[in-house]
Amino acid sequence: MTAEEVRSALMGESARLLERRRVFRRLPSPPRCKLCAAPFAGIGGLVLRHVGFARSPGNPALCTKCLGKLRKHGMSGVEMPVTLLFSDVRGSTAIGEQMRPAEFHSFLDHFYRLASEAIVGHDGLVDKVVGDEIVALFFGGISGPKHAAAAIEAAIDVAERGRTPRRHRPGRFRWERRSTQARRSWAGRGPAARSRTSPRLAMS
Ligand SMILES: [Zn+2]
Repeated sequence: MTAEEVRSALMGESARLLERRRVFRRLPSPPRCKLCAAPFAGIGGLVLRHVGFARSPGNPALCTKCLGKLRKHGMSGVEMPVTLLFSDVRGSTAIGEQMRPAEFHSFLDHFYRLASEAIVGHDGLVDKVVGDEIVALFFGGISGPKHAAAAIEAAIDVAERGRTPRRHRPGRFRWERRSTQARRSWAGRGPAARSRTSPRLAMS
């Protein structure tokens, strides 16, 4: 793949990828690879996982085939419009000082999980987790041409999940036992979505 072919695939403009998406969309069942639409569930997922289209454990939004190609060919030198979403926990240092290490670990794990669900649910890609921050990418190939709007919706969803933790409360972390300070801190600071087309869209 050339840099232009990688760019075309990521922009959602590659004829080969569009054809593959068209075929894969007919196979059951969702969830699907955000890039090629390979199904991860149902009979389609069962068959395709044996020919290289299994759900990637490293990034569950993509199949191992797509992720492998991106890793192999890299994205350096590719220029295209991308919307980035940064979301972190306000006052995490102070919160961490009031918790045991295991509790704080569980607290952050819970944040990562809920934020990831919101991001993937709005067709974004979790790029990385750094400290108390999660970074997500939204671009044409996986989020469609309205990727900036998708990022904003994801940002609102992340903030909303922080405000109503019990409704989205899976796992071991018990919100009702946390201090009100911790609860407010997450809810009080929304994530920020920045786009190349809209330089600064701060959510609150
Ligand atoms: Zn794929």
